[in-house]
Amino acid sequence: MSKLKIAAQTIKDVVIHAKKTGQLKASEKVIEFRKEVCEKCPFFDGTRCESCGCFMDIKTKLAAAVCPENYWAQKEVELELFGIIDDVYIKQKCCGV
Ligand code: SF4
Repeated sequence: MSKLKIAAQTIKDVVIHAKKTGQLKASEKVIEFRKEVCEKCPFFDGTRCESCGCFMDIKTKLAAAVCPENYWAQKEVELELFGIIDDVYIKQKCCGV
């Protein structure tokens, strides 16, 4: 998928998620762990993701945003295993976006 299509899909997902849940912004805990993953990622250039082209300071704060390489999901599994993800995050995930 091209970077333009990924950006368009991200915007679409954000709007759908916000309509369904009324929630645009991710919780502070989610933002924190997303940033932690991005900072160690080979695709992160310090500002943008070289995989999707997004500005990560913005994208990490959007509740419906997803990592194009699925690295956030891998971290989420670790956090769930250790019981670190809270109810706020679980609610954000449950809308199916
Ligand atoms: S969104 Fe994913 S691929 Fe992009 S910098 Fe973050 S962890 Fe890496």
